[in-house]
Amino acid sequence: MASNAALLIGGKLVEGTARLDVVNPATGQVFTTVSCATEREARDAVAAAKQAQPGWAAAGLPARRALLLRFADEMGANAEELAALLVLEQGKPLAEAHQELAFAQAFVRHLAGLELPVEVVQDDATHRVEIHHKPLGVVAAIAAWNFPLLIAAYKIAPALLLGNTVVLKPAPTTPLASLRLGALARDIFPPGVLNVITDRNDLGAFLTAHPDVAKVSFTGSTATGKKVMESAGPRLKRVTLELGGNDGAIVLDDASVAEIAPKIFGSAFYNCGQVCLALKRLYVHASIHDELCEALAELANAAVVGNGAEPGVTIGPLQNAMQFDKAGRFLAAARRDGKILTGGAALPGDGYFVAPTIVRDLPDGNELVAEEQFAPILPVLTYHDIDEALARVNASPYGLGGSVWSSDPQRAYAVAQRLDVGTAWINQHLHFGPHIPLVGAKESGVGVEFAAEGLAEYAQMSVINIARQQGG
Ligand code: NAD
Repeated sequence: MASNAALLIGGKLVEGTARLDVVNPATGQVFTTVSCATEREARDAVAAAKQAQPGWAAAGLPARRALLLRFADEMGANAEELAALLVLEQGKPLAEAHQELAFAQAFVRHLAGLELPVEVVQDDATHRVEIHHKPLGVVAAIAAWNFPLLIAAYKIAPALLLGNTVVLKPAPTTPLASLRLGALARDIFPPGVLNVITDRNDLGAFLTAHPDVAKVSFTGSTATGKKVMESAGPRLKRVTLELGGNDGAIVLDDASVAEIAPKIFGSAFYNCGQVCLALKRLYVHASIHDELCEALAELANAAVVGNGAEPGVTIGPLQNAMQFDKAGRFLAAARRDGKILTGGAALPGDGYFVAPTIVRDLPDGNELVAEEQFAPILPVLTYHDIDEALARVNASPYGLGGSVWSSDPQRAYAVAQRLDVGTAWINQHLHFGPHIPLVGAKESGVGVEFAAEGLAEYAQMSVINIARQQGG
């Protein structure tokens, strides 16, 4: 593995003044180092983005769209390399890395195809009133480590399409694929339009506070999202915050266990449970609770846990040591208050592996139920009455997604409408796409990502209001 992955600043690949170790979560060992920015390079990156922005805006939307489509093509042309990097630094199985890359391209293509045309809201004898959308300026795109390329893609595409420029900062534990993306972008976009810097978890706050950053698009934890909002406050910067979730799912008494068990398992354990929209708490009607617990435990036993680079592996390691330690605490809490049906422990070795775990008989106050686990550990809870189930699911401070599972879609629909979430699914969980707005209710976020609604958040709406000349 080359040890020279460099930052992208002002169209140049820059070595930076510091180095950052990258750990392979399947081995727990450092396997390479990359360039790491300090405040100096972060300042340079914002300055380069600021300088490039007027020219990029002036280039016009068709030209910007064409380059974004080339960017998506280039990701596809380098899919093998990018997917391999994702496996090495993130830990996910190779097939999931390819899925992430395919999603990243699909998001860039779809979002690049959108536009915000001038809207005429009045045109009569007295006035013509038009709504325009202007770029905001420099966007700081701050990403989490669970989907480094997908998150980068869905922030870069709408920001650049509308004439903003971007400084992308991946999470410190997953810098490689993003730096490689930067190197590809260098040959596509004019210098300074897209800049990529890495950090030791110390430059996020610098970027959000920087006076020349007009907007922060952030994906990460709710705790850090609150800091971003505080930091944006003094200058009233625009923010989009895509934060944590603790999605509850409600299984009605008429659901077919054989049909739903594999779908529920996939929704909870994809990417080793490290998905903001994963199914994280399962509330099952008492009449089918035991049967579903057994079916899920069987699926957990059949999962192949291992290094994502090895063929046949379905669940990789957790991404980093902090997440691994957190999983250990959740397992201890589960053992203390509930019954572990399968799994329940870390796997031997130096990697961050946890056996897929199904836990039953936990009270709602247990940490594994009340907090976001971001790990392959699913609590299965029982309920008797639908009002009780809804109250328990809606009691969470999070409100990202939720789902209802039933053989009767109308019954499920009535329950889904009562979920206090940004996305309510029926007989599925985790389905998303570039045409579907992604929103978080309560403490799961501020603003919208994806679709035309998300695109609008990268623009300043401005009104032109023309008085008709008398007799004109
Ligand atoms: P995190 O919030 O600590 O980090 C996310 C990003 O923010 C990283 O790039 C980090 O370097 C940066 N950052 C750290 N401190 C900052 C600050 N003060 N100002 C600005 N940026 C700062 O989260 P994490 O540990 O990377 O991810 C785990 C958590 O993130 C989980 O709890 C999960 O729920 C959440 N998450 C949510 C989504 C989502 O789409 N809703 C996606 C991924 C992760």
